[in-house]
Amino acid sequence: MNLDASLNADLHCHSVVSDGTLTPEALAERAKAGGVDLWSLTDHDEIGGQARALAAARAAGLPYLTGTEISVSFAGRVVHIVGLGFDHGAEEMAEGLRATRGGREARAREMAAGLAAVGIPGAFEGALKYVGNPELISRTHFARFLVDAGHCADVPEVFRRFLTEGKPGFVPHKWATLKDAVGWITRAGGIAVIAHPGRYDFTPTEEYALITEFIGHGGRGIEVVTGSHTVAEYARYADTALEFGLLASRGSDFHSPDESRVDLGTLQPLPGKLTPVWAELADRIHR
Ligand code: AMP
Ligand code: MN
Ligand code: MN
Ligand code: MN
Repeated sequence: MNLDASLNADLHCHSVVSDGTLTPEALAERAKAGGVDLWSLTDHDEIGGQARALAAARAAGLPYLTGTEISVSFAGRVVHIVGLGFDHGAEEMAEGLRATRGGREARAREMAAGLAAVGIPGAFEGALKYVGNPELISRTHFARFLVDAGHCADVPEVFRRFLTEGKPGFVPHKWATLKDAVGWITRAGGIAVIAHPGRYDFTPTEEYALITEFIGHGGRGIEVVTGSHTVAEYARYADTALEFGLLASRGSDFHSPDESRVDLGTLQPLPGKLTPVWAELADRIHR
């Protein structure tokens, strides 16, 4: 396998183990059918799907890197850090992710109370019907409930009206620290990657702080070509990767055939001038 920038690597997606709608097995099949050469399942704050993803990838003849996407609180905002190629049996990471998931149920009950106050009762029980993993009730599950119950036309509308800062169903939450998330991934033998940097609405100063602190903690990668970026952002974050000497990653952030704009394996390749994160993970690929 030629591990250069032209590889059809898809190193970011979600299964029913977090807030995706497909099983790890169905995702492996879909990635294979979509022409993916190297795949990773990156469930939010969870590695419970890794053994299944690994087995399904192996059965499909699809090279695989372990993955997760960790929720981090940074500068009053939520930042996502993807981990790739770590040892998924590492106890410290499993423990850290368990703690990160820990507050989700209480948060969900508070979210439901906020929604009830604006005339949407039963949202906790409603969202729970969409949850595949009881430890991972997320805003996405609330969004699916609100759409299917007729309160909004689609998931983005739910986020705009109800689930983002200042809106009735939004509850601020304390996630992992940047230092811990990067440390868990790195000490488990993996590489930490800043997920979809274009999504955070940071000022240039805040973004600089994120990247330099991330590197200071041992972080090495950044997503450049992702389903969460515009084409203009591919170019912008390609420059960022070069400027800071970061490895570049690529992934659809696929969640669901009904909701996701970008399917597994369909993004454009990484710009050739970048060093792909997978070039540094050759000995971590499961075949
Ligand atoms: P949570 O981890 O519970 O805060 O949920 C975050 C998840 O919500 C993300 O991983 C996305 O899947 C989804 N999400 C966040 N913002 C939006 C948005 N504006 N539109 C659609 N989905 C979103
Ligand atoms: Mn998600
Ligand atoms: Mn994310
Ligand atoms: Mn994601």
